[in-house]
Amino acid sequence: MAEFALIQRYFSGLSDPGQDVLLGVGDDCALLQSPPGRQLAMTMDTLIADRHFLADVDPISLGHKSLAVNLSDLAAMGAEPAWALLSLSLPKIDHDWLQGFVQGFKALARRFGVRLVGGDTCQGELSITIQLTGFVEPGRAMLRSNARPGDLVYITGTLGDAALALQLLRAGKDPGALREYLEKPQPRITEGRALAAVGVRTCIDISDGLVADLGHICQRSQCAARIQVAQLPLSPMVASHVQETGDLALAVAGGDDYELCFSLPVAARQLVENLPFDCTCIGEILPGQGVELVREDGSNLPLPSAWEHFSS
Ligand code: ADP
Ligand code: MG
Repeated sequence: MAEFALIQRYFSGLSDPGQDVLLGVGDDCALLQSPPGRQLAMTMDTLIADRHFLADVDPISLGHKSLAVNLSDLAAMGAEPAWALLSLSLPKIDHDWLQGFVQGFKALARRFGVRLVGGDTCQGELSITIQLTGFVEPGRAMLRSNARPGDLVYITGTLGDAALALQLLRAGKDPGALREYLEKPQPRITEGRALAAVGVRTCIDISDGLVADLGHICQRSQCAARIQVAQLPLSPMVASHVQETGDLALAVAGGDDYELCFSLPVAARQLVENLPFDCTCIGEILPGQGVELVREDGSNLPLPSAWEHFSS
């Protein structure tokens, strides 16, 4: 099957044109109309087989996850998802694989109003690149650089679930309900939009682990963060793993969580705590640099050297 027929079959009808999509898949370029009074937020991520995912992973999950990791970046900015470009490099044309991939991609795209407006298809090592554009109200985007000493640090959801699932899979064990966290992460778009709307101005999504990603906020905002280990939100499975092993690495340095970590002035606390989703205060922003973890008795939890390079 020629490239053209393949594009027709899998990507042409994937999204309906709308007011802002004047021309989608099929021409040399897509033709898009940005809504008046909105800024465009753009992001791109590449997933390479056997580096970012196992080549034999279920294609439905892969279609979901490759879009989800990009949506997570829009969520962290407080942007509303709009347009996607999809570049696929495929070793061969495998219709079952393509059908699965499109199914996973499409279901998530529909849920968050993402329109696929174009892309590229070529033969090569299996890899997927997605470029996403979102809309955000001027002045509302949540930046890594807006944290200030005295701010409280919050996180949505729970930490370490995807990392524990991966650890169990690697040990040949069934991760059970945790598998969804690894293979079908839920981008926090609704949460990001709500946080931006109530005035939160600093946020990052946790893709590389809490210490690393909060470290990015500290670096860009030129401040430090102190995290209270006892306040970290953990699911029952991660909590019992931490209790059994005494090892917090999964929760503070495990990747692939795609929760949002944000900071806000103490005065804005109630606005956030009234929102209809779980978020937990885990610490505060201080003058200085780097991320510090503190136990309940006030002592410092040393950052294992494997995590240290993340925090600066
Ligand atoms: P060109 O040679 O002009 O780059 P292509 O043959 O690569 O054109 O693409 C033809 C049309 O199909 C374009 O509109 C392009 O955006 C779209 N397209 C190609 N691959 C994909 C894909 N994987 N997903 C979505 N649209 C695609
Ligand atoms: Mg092309």
